[in-house]
Amino acid sequence: MSFTLHGLAVSSGIAIGRAHLVSHATLEVAHYRIKEKSIPTEIARFENAVATVRSELGSLRGEASGPGSPSELAAFVDIHSMILDDPLISELPMDLIRERRCNAEWALVQQMEQLVQQFDEIEDSYLRERKQDVVQVVERVLKALMGKARKVSKRGKEEDLIIVAHDLSPADTIQFKNLKIGGFVTDLGGATSHTAIVARSLAIPAVVGLHHARPLVREDDLVIVDGTRGVLIVDPDPRVLEEYRLRKSELELERHKLRRLKTARSATLDGEEVALYANIELPQDISQVKDVGADGIGLFRTEFLFMNRDGLPDEQEQYEAYKAVAKAMGGKPVTIRTLDSGGDKSIGASVGAGRQALNPALGLRAIRYCLTEPQIFLTQLRAILRAAHYGNIRILVPMLAHAAEIEQTLAMIEQAKAQLRETRHKFAEDVKVGGMIEIPAAALALGPFVKHLQFLSLGTNDLIQYTLAIDRTDEAVAHLYDPLHPAILRLISQTIAAGARMDVPVAVCGEMAGDPTLTRLLIGMGLRQFSMHPSLILEVKQQVVMADADQLALKVGRLLRLDDPEKLREQVERLNA
Ligand code: PEP
Ligand code: MG
Repeated sequence: MSFTLHGLAVSSGIAIGRAHLVSHATLEVAHYRIKEKSIPTEIARFENAVATVRSELGSLRGEASGPGSPSELAAFVDIHSMILDDPLISELPMDLIRERRCNAEWALVQQMEQLVQQFDEIEDSYLRERKQDVVQVVERVLKALMGKARKVSKRGKEEDLIIVAHDLSPADTIQFKNLKIGGFVTDLGGATSHTAIVARSLAIPAVVGLHHARPLVREDDLVIVDGTRGVLIVDPDPRVLEEYRLRKSELELERHKLRRLKTARSATLDGEEVALYANIELPQDISQVKDVGADGIGLFRTEFLFMNRDGLPDEQEQYEAYKAVAKAMGGKPVTIRTLDSGGDKSIGASVGAGRQALNPALGLRAIRYCLTEPQIFLTQLRAILRAAHYGNIRILVPMLAHAAEIEQTLAMIEQAKAQLRETRHKFAEDVKVGGMIEIPAAALALGPFVKHLQFLSLGTNDLIQYTLAIDRTDEAVAHLYDPLHPAILRLISQTIAAGARMDVPVAVCGEMAGDPTLTRLLIGMGLRQFSMHPSLILEVKQQVVMADADQLALKVGRLLRLDDPEKLREQVERLNA
């Protein structure tokens, strides 16, 4: 019987194929007593399983550091390795085996349940969520104990393999890259979940937050994953199947054609140049950037250099990283954002230690933090200024709201230059400085921004979070995330218009810039600089080359006067029709 489930569309495209259920049922293990003399064998069995998983994670770590792999993956695999090596997981179950003379699977699950209970009592929401990582690691060990590692194998060539899971770890997801998995769906997860982030960067159609897919779908069921609409169709009727097959082959043809756009000029039909920049997290992301012929780096999220380590990177290490990117981009703009730590991005044990913010997104984040830690900030500024000698580097300052923050930042940049002069380091004197417009206050009172800064970049992810008062990491309010809310559109268009009036270039570097359904809208608002994940650049370029900027300006001007969200949405859809 055919049925349809609706979830959150997190990675676009269509996959049609047979369901492969990835189960957590393994966690319900049998319990049996073992003979005294079998204890050493049972312990050896447990140790072997842990060793197997350690080597599995080791090879995943290798794949995660390879070119083209999303930078977050290595960090996720590292977390799993740390959990596996914790004596609570890798040693205590052996005591249980000895004391209670039980089988290894049962001992491990007992230990896990105790740990999970402790996680539930943790106040810090980030740490509490790590519970899921513990469960995933335990599941891996159980699979190894039962003689079947969590490996999925590719079957028929014609059909995609569709993974159906309650939840997936990023470490599981990385295997999909090599196996050419068609798509996946999960019951848990939000648009900002780790699994969604990985799916987008691997370009696999995916739907998350389906709630009931795992219990309702059976192994080998024929399913359609519509990652654009957030729909899973199980056992589709022949007419629907035919329709989706047609759409899928159209999409494949389009994707193939997209490659031809790599070297095409990024300009509208009426000749308006539109710069398409890439967002990166680490220097190794550059290969993907070059692969799509991006016009430069519009956002280098430098905080990723500061994560998953004990100390902070020193000036030399940062300088090498920034210089590598600048040189690789060969004179194209490289926009280095200064440290945007805090919020959901913590950067190592030393930072913010001893102080637990109740609302981290509203706390000592980004520039606020840097201005309270001048030595950390000056170190980064010196590294950027030195690297700027080797390329076209610009400095971007996140989370500005007050004129005083801009003035202090500019003074610190001058101080960093003076220090470099004193130590006789080579550096660039004339580095452009820009600010992120991601707090509504900044968008509403743009004066100091256009006066003191040489370019602006709209961080729509945070602009939406702060304007609509929705925590961008909280699944429970994910449905309220709305880039087309009239208030958001007004803030964006006013900022773009003010930039044009004052001759200060404005870019968008939040997720909105990489959404091809919004390209025409943004062009119509006057936007000429977009920055997005490299995998989205060609799709957006396709929209650019088919757009007529003049006509769009007229239509969007009218549309922005609308107050009724439904009518507004309808008009935005019409722009793409
Ligand atoms: C944004 O807020 O839109 C942005 C680009 O920055 P981040 O997602 O890193 O906060
Ligand atoms: Mg931001």
